[in-house]
Amino acid sequence: AIDLNNVEKSFGDHHVLKGVSLQVPTGTVTAMIGPSGAGKSSLLRCINLLERPDSGTITVEGITIDVSTKIDDEQLRALRRQIGMVFQHFNLFPHLTVMQNVSLAQMRVLGRSKDEANEKSLTLLKRVGLGDKADQYPARCSGGQQQRIAIARALALEPNIMLFDEPTSALDPELGLEVLAVMRELAEDGMTMVVVTHEMQFARSVSDDLVVMADGRILEEGHPEEIFSDPKEQRTREFLRAVL
Ligand code: ATP
Ligand code: MG
Repeated sequence: AIDLNNVEKSFGDHHVLKGVSLQVPTGTVTAMIGPSGAGKSSLLRCINLLERPDSGTITVEGITIDVSTKIDDEQLRALRRQIGMVFQHFNLFPHLTVMQNVSLAQMRVLGRSKDEANEKSLTLLKRVGLGDKADQYPARCSGGQQQRIAIARALALEPNIMLFDEPTSALDPELGLEVLAVMRELAEDGMTMVVVTHEMQFARSVSDDLVVMADGRILEEGHPEEIFSDPKEQRTREFLRAVL
């Protein structure tokens, strides 16, 4: 589970998160939508402290970090071990095979042997539909395949939570669908997920909770079906009209 309490973040005098509180119960999917510059990526990066908030508390799987006090390195490592993250750009190592890409962090972070890591990698590559790509190089894979490799790489560290920041927005629509299908399966398997997305159909059909962000705040939050069919806020209505 994730529990954010009153998270604030400024870049210089630009106040990008203005006191965001959000709960994501274990085994649920939260989708996050909203206009460009709303603070969605900043908020996602605060969850694993890639971005350090100015104030607020962050609890992940029972590990609480109060950013107004000195952050304990051990605690930070423990928190990050709970979380896998997938970005818009997958950043695979071009000089490593698909298998090596998925195995590397397992050996470095978890201390797995090469054989153990490769076995795990192959299982995960099969799970994302790429068992036959293990010995290829990323450049020989499509964008959708590369993003699925990035998902397998994140899953290889056995996180309890997965964060996705617009994982399909750099992909052609039909390649995005392959990635969304993998994400849908993960959700059905009970993974706790936060997904920033422009894929309204995905948000509507997969998420348990929909968060609409605008101008550094949660504008509206609730069941996706309700927000899509009967948004309470004028700005939500305008945003949905623009994207649907
Ligand atoms: P998009 O839909 O375009 O990805 P977003 O909702 O993810 O937008 P953020 O990337 O979180 O928005 O950015 C929120 C605001 O914070 C923007 O105005 C952005 O310019 C600013 N910002 C983000 N990161 C930094 C940074 N490292 N330094 C300065 N300003 C930043
Ligand atoms: Mg963003």
